[in-house]
Amino acid sequence: MLASIPLKDIQIQDRFWKERLDLVRKEIIPYQWEAMNDRVPNAEPSHCIENYRIAAGQAQGSFYGEVFQDSDLAKWLEAVAYVLSFQPDPKLEKLADEAIELVCAAQQPDGYLNTFFTIKEPDQRWRNLREGHELYCAGHMMEAAVAYFEATGKRRLLDAMMRLADLICNTFGPEEGKIHAYPGHEEVELALFRMYRATGVRRYLELSAYFINCRGTGENYFRNVNDRPGYLPIWGSMDTNSDMSYYQAHQPVREQKQAAGHAVRAMYLYSAMADLAGELKDEGLLNACKTLWNDVTERQMYVTGGVGASGILERFTTDYDLSNEMAYAESCASIGLMLFGLRMNRVTRQAQYFDPVERALYNTVLASVALDGKSFFYVNPLEVWPKACMPYTSKEHVKPVRQPWFSCACCPPNVARTFASLGQYIWAQDSQRVYLNLFISSTVKAKNGAILKLETEFPMGNVLKITSDQVLELAVRIPGYGKNFRANVSYRKENGYGVFELEAGKELEIQFDAPACFIRANPEVRACSGKVCIQRGPVVYCLEEIDNGSNLSALSVDTAVSPGERESDIPGGLMITASGKRRRAWTDDKLYGEIPSQYEETVLQAVPYAFWGNREKGEMTVWIRES
Ligand SMILES: [Zn+2]
Repeated sequence: MLASIPLKDIQIQDRFWKERLDLVRKEIIPYQWEAMNDRVPNAEPSHCIENYRIAAGQAQGSFYGEVFQDSDLAKWLEAVAYVLSFQPDPKLEKLADEAIELVCAAQQPDGYLNTFFTIKEPDQRWRNLREGHELYCAGHMMEAAVAYFEATGKRRLLDAMMRLADLICNTFGPEEGKIHAYPGHEEVELALFRMYRATGVRRYLELSAYFINCRGTGENYFRNVNDRPGYLPIWGSMDTNSDMSYYQAHQPVREQKQAAGHAVRAMYLYSAMADLAGELKDEGLLNACKTLWNDVTERQMYVTGGVGASGILERFTTDYDLSNEMAYAESCASIGLMLFGLRMNRVTRQAQYFDPVERALYNTVLASVALDGKSFFYVNPLEVWPKACMPYTSKEHVKPVRQPWFSCACCPPNVARTFASLGQYIWAQDSQRVYLNLFISSTVKAKNGAILKLETEFPMGNVLKITSDQVLELAVRIPGYGKNFRANVSYRKENGYGVFELEAGKELEIQFDAPACFIRANPEVRACSGKVCIQRGPVVYCLEEIDNGSNLSALSVDTAVSPGERESDIPGGLMITASGKRRRAWTDDKLYGEIPSQYEETVLQAVPYAFWGNREKGEMTVWIRES
């Protein structure tokens, strides 16, 4: 198995990504702190911090927000921890320490932590696992605790979360007297695994395995949860009682062949399955992960790395059902895909898992945050006609502009923690060699204290310059889109990597070609029939109204002419141009008629999907009719 390199040993110098990381530290983290404290004008109220204060007895009032509101602070703390690992910031650390004291004050004497149940329903603990999100929130705070301990060496939150993990271990499990069940929203499985890794306490691993292995087996725990005495409905309007696939609980996980149900839940479950498969060398479980990964990435993933197509219940539907204008493609689900792919790479040492990871990162996840870090997408459609995104319609989930905050604010802090932990996606190592997975300029301190440095302009340019101060074996991922992968020294291919022997102080130079090209979808994808999109390396491009006029559906592209590149002051610095046609508007106002189509020549101008909607509100489309 590949091991991660601690974030404190990775310094990112990359021009573009360093700016994103600075944005996380200087803008997104402080902004989210203000949002959680309800101090951002015109944003959806959060009440997250106030809930903790009330649960801690430091304030009066009632709980407000989603049942999982606690997890916003957990993800914020986790993001802070990652930032502190590579960038000391005493002011930020002090703020985080104070937040941790608040969390500890809200924790109950027996270790229990959840402000919704503590404030509102103290008698309902662990009784509605289908909707209650207690284990989900617990998981996020455990992840924050491990990250904060690894970043700062401080045990305060880790010790508190060990008490919570111990309580959960004493409450759930196969033994008599315990609750034989698993969480409605997976996450604690991942977290218990991290707690096990950080503390060495084996029962955390065992409970994670229990939650995974009993899922979907025997008499379904969720199905009749409402018939139980004292059942408290939390989401009264949501009838998912009959569809256990929504919770990935329709079959034992090893028998699941198709990604199903709520996309974020699915991704977190599959990620935890990959962790467990690697740790226990469980081939059966690993095979289930491979099958599910293939289904997601070969049949249910948008070209932008978005997953979970349905706007109703944020879920997977069926293979090849990838509507563009109705897409849900939640930011968190793409982050989940990154977590899943990262683990599959770690367990199998196969480079291929990083193609979808990179696709999700450079497109959907990057698009989730405005360039100023102050507004966010939760839903990531591939086609937007702002006028049609109306409330109380089937497109009300599509927001044509990024929002300052959300009543359900899972995505913004999730993006912050993902950007802040970017280092783990770039470098990895095992006993034999160092691995380079993403092409982001950085310096890493690897095994035996070796210092490696990567310099590149990627994705603008496809040259990688790598030096090491020691003799070392380095595996560099050969990206799926990279043609003519070549280097100034010889190398061998292994598991999708080029493997090089680095000499101390001698520069390795690698190049590959990834020119802008037209991509088509499998003919089974009805929504993309007769259409192409433009991709350059991992970057998917889109047309915006501001560059191409209104009614983007009237445009078509001539794929016989190769796309051109044009330097521009748009973010990302590069526009792609393509020859195309525009269908002329009709002069009479008929809706239908025997009227021949007329076209005029035009040049299409495409910008990276990640940066759409940063200039002005308008139409956008990724897929373009092929003429
Ligand atoms: Zn989300």
